[in-house]
Amino acid sequence: MTTIAFIGLGNMGGPMAANLVKAGHTVRGFDLVPQAIEAAKANGVETFPAALEAVSGAEVVITMLPNGGIVKKVYDEVLPAAQTGALFIDSSTISVDDAREIHRKAVEHGFAQVDAPVSGGVKGATAGTLAFMVGGEEEAFSAARGPLDPMAGKIIHCGGPGAGQAAKVCNNMLLAVQQIAVGEAFVLAEKLGLSDQALYDVVTGATGNCWAIETNCPVPGPVPTSPANNDYKPGFATALMNKDLGLAMDAIASTGSRAPLGTHAAQLYRAFAEQHGDLDFSAIIKTLH
Ligand code: NAD
Repeated sequence: MTTIAFIGLGNMGGPMAANLVKAGHTVRGFDLVPQAIEAAKANGVETFPAALEAVSGAEVVITMLPNGGIVKKVYDEVLPAAQTGALFIDSSTISVDDAREIHRKAVEHGFAQVDAPVSGGVKGATAGTLAFMVGGEEEAFSAARGPLDPMAGKIIHCGGPGAGQAAKVCNNMLLAVQQIAVGEAFVLAEKLGLSDQALYDVVTGATGNCWAIETNCPVPGPVPTSPANNDYKPGFATALMNKDLGLAMDAIASTGSRAPLGTHAAQLYRAFAEQHGDLDFSAIIKTLH
């Protein structure tokens, strides 16, 4: 069994660390927020008053933090103190550029490092069924498999350093466009006198089908488990989608790509997040009537 430092015990990191404990690993945790620390302790995580102390003696260091600026700060603090041979795994959602920067720094300090962002949300983190998109060298990916396994439903090696974040940003930009397009289709259908159920039945068996309608149907009725049936409680909060679209727009700017639909989706979600950041992102349909 492995000694794993876990930095960032929030909505995602808390249950992820708990699953590592359940799998028999020793987990040394740190967070800035007392409630997160208490909850982690109750799940069997040993907690420490500083990241530096949590990292001491750890064979694996996992970070699950809010943004790239914070991840970079934590890496600057802990890299000089980590034990020889430690493997660093960052599962936070951050930009590809930041992911490559922290990878370079880890390598300069003599450590293997992978980016391993996730999809699956708090539900997946709790159930241990997250999808991990991993970027890094083959050897580092192989070493990361064991520690990731108790938290994962699926682990995909996407390529070299930053490739996991690249996959995440592309997927979520695509998802944002699809969720808006599905909303537009339901609004148009209603105006044409078509029932929600009829549109759902046709599209899910036809060429327009996608997760944004089949699972995350933005109108109540056709999919009883979709957030639309629960006042749009997330699910995947608009604030998080807005954050991910910001990273997608950074990637578009830094690569000189063109993404007219993705860019428009980012604008619509930025405006929607100002008032409704706490709603599931499928609630964007409310702005389309
Ligand atoms: P969260 O805000 O609930 O948790 C982040 C935790 O990091 C907090 O407990 C905070 O106190 C802690 N933290 C902040 N600065 C710190 C520092 N310097 N040292 C130690 N701890 C620090 O966020 P979350 O929902 O758990 O998300 C974490 C990451 O996962 C984000 O990058 C997010 O984009 C990504 N993500 C979230 C979801 C989701 O559904 N919540 C899904 C996929 C990916």
